[in-house]
Amino acid sequence: MKLQKHYRVCNLCEAMCGLEIVHDGQTVQSVKGDQNDPLSKGSICPKGALIHELHSDPNRLKRPLRKKGDGEWEEIDWQAAFDIVGNRINQVRREYGDNAVGLYLGNPTVHNFGMMMLAGEMKRMLGSRNSFSPTSMDQLPHHFMAYYMFGHSLNIPIPDIDRTEYMVIFGANPLASNGSLMSAPGVHGRLMDIRKRGGKVIQFDPRENETSRVVDEHHFVKPNTDVYFLLGILHLIQKENWTALGNLGNHITGLDKLKDLAIEFIPERVAKITGVPEDVLRRITKEYALADKAVLYGRMGMSTQEHGGLCHWLSAVINILTGHFDKPGGAMFTTPAFDIKRKKKFHKAHKRWQSRVRGLPEFDGELPVSAMAEEMLTPGKGQIRALITNAGNPVLSSPNGKRLEQALPKLDFMVAVDIFMNETTRHADIILPPPSHLEIEHYDLIFNLLAVSDNVKFSEPLFQPEKGQMYDWQIARELIKRFASISRKQPSKLYQWLTPRQLLNLGLLTGPYGKLSHPKRWFSGLSLKKVIDSTHGISLGPLKPRIPEVLLTADGKINIADDVFLNGLDKVKTELSEHPYQSLDRDQFLLIGRRHLRNNNSWMHNTAALMKGKNRCTAMIHPDNAERLQFVDDQRVTVSSQTGSIDIPVEITNKIMPGVVSIPHGFGHKKEGTRLDVATKPGNAGVSVNDITDHNRLDPVTGNAAFSGQVVSIKSSTTATPKAE
Ligand code: SF4
Repeated sequence: MKLQKHYRVCNLCEAMCGLEIVHDGQTVQSVKGDQNDPLSKGSICPKGALIHELHSDPNRLKRPLRKKGDGEWEEIDWQAAFDIVGNRINQVRREYGDNAVGLYLGNPTVHNFGMMMLAGEMKRMLGSRNSFSPTSMDQLPHHFMAYYMFGHSLNIPIPDIDRTEYMVIFGANPLASNGSLMSAPGVHGRLMDIRKRGGKVIQFDPRENETSRVVDEHHFVKPNTDVYFLLGILHLIQKENWTALGNLGNHITGLDKLKDLAIEFIPERVAKITGVPEDVLRRITKEYALADKAVLYGRMGMSTQEHGGLCHWLSAVINILTGHFDKPGGAMFTTPAFDIKRKKKFHKAHKRWQSRVRGLPEFDGELPVSAMAEEMLTPGKGQIRALITNAGNPVLSSPNGKRLEQALPKLDFMVAVDIFMNETTRHADIILPPPSHLEIEHYDLIFNLLAVSDNVKFSEPLFQPEKGQMYDWQIARELIKRFASISRKQPSKLYQWLTPRQLLNLGLLTGPYGKLSHPKRWFSGLSLKKVIDSTHGISLGPLKPRIPEVLLTADGKINIADDVFLNGLDKVKTELSEHPYQSLDRDQFLLIGRRHLRNNNSWMHNTAALMKGKNRCTAMIHPDNAERLQFVDDQRVTVSSQTGSIDIPVEITNKIMPGVVSIPHGFGHKKEGTRLDVATKPGNAGVSVNDITDHNRLDPVTGNAAFSGQVVSIKSSTTATPKAE
């Protein structure tokens, strides 16, 4: 067959790399980065280059499955599957109320344009307060800060990496992620360009990671202490009067509450807690504050600590006070072509209800994922008795995943929309598999809001789904229809009549660059057709200053010092005098996570080519700790917490701070009950770090899981090493 080229956006992660796929109509011959993609300009990572392996994975499910009484699975047709799901879910709602149905939307949901368009309507028709997602595992602090300061959980300022001259990075590894909550494909080049422009990149992290190789300076900082470091920066900025608000000051309320806020956080005290020398704090604060174009950016490591919410708030406060905000080179807002928050009025999105068992507050319609298992396991009114999951594997990804693993078989009913039978979906009664990543049309509804420049691109499906398959949005629409039959709310006609593609066209036409928004520029304005015709996508330019029109707070101003943050500081101030974990026993460590370029949480592990090579699921510790405990490289050790223990090979490296252990997330695949032949091979499976993370350890301000900085102990293990096949 004749070879053809297909251009699309990679929908595996946040980076949105443009792909050039050579195929013969049935099989993929090669995948390269699209040189003409306006955002990624040819960059690609190993996952994107192997996206077709997900499509051709022999373990991928293609027909609805029903679990029989003997635990075996049988294929059934779609209508029968929908009828079972509709009847069983509605039966639970009738008997126990709407809250008895839980909903978990996994990470790939946000990369699926069709499901994203309909997920909100599905939630509305279910009417349950028990909605969960991975947001509260690792990124809730960003949304929380954006909501309280700028009026909407998606109003997140993005580092203008392409124009900055001084970038300070906390708890992030952009070279492994290609930017997270900062979609920046080809981030290696972007960071190097800062240095080529004569600028500097500074990194703080308890581990020297892949990104450390391209920065000017890497400094170790103790896990869970970033908040002290940021307060130290604020202290110096206020003391030295390095504030430079300019016109921004007219758009801020609460500035007076910041006065003397960080007065106690003198560099000497901060250095003692964080492990970062005092002179480094002083020098870097001065360089950053006085730079013409500078930005602070923090990500995963900063979000998953006990004070993640305060950290992201303080980062934004510091960027604002120093004038590194809403101007080129600082932290800026995007202007996406389809802006799902555009012209929205402020609406309350926090503490509208609480979780039943622990009383944890809702945020943006979701409860903290750490509460999901207890809501299933604890009897009483409102107990979750049925669960709907979409594209997720919380048994491996949520804190104390073992507890969830115990809860799932106790449910009355579970349905999973997923292409794999994994450690979570194996507990379902029905699995509804949508088509593969290459069989769907794609538009990044969310990540265009978080990218380092404004762009627009639409991807047509490369292959048609096999006969008898249904798109995600068609599955969602069928479920909505059934759930709506007993809902107290009327289903929206918009979602019944229009396809996601038509909804997108409407959004683009009426968006900031749309034909309907600029009738005088009808010929130059955007429409879906124009975007599709562009093939490689259209650049909408660098980030633009957007204050004040972007602000969606009730008074239209930046709310710089909300009490929700100020009250959260009390604990930090108390611990300034006596910080916990300052002295640990000789076998105790502070746990941090790890991400690798070839991993995407738990769901790319069934791709053989990505699993090749050295075992990546290891416990990294410093040589000093290894010597003290008499460990040798590759020795199996037992890492324990009050939650559980795991056996894992040790990796001795001076790239980690003494007293810290790093274990990657997403591993721990199990043979039993799953259909993941590659992921579950001995040597590939690894162990789940979430067998030892504590579901009770949360950021008290936001409710995000506090994976980082948990105390664990390490002893030598007596179990044998599983051999790779
Ligand atoms: S970085 Fe992300 S978007 Fe880019 S190719 Fe890799 S997986 Fe795809």
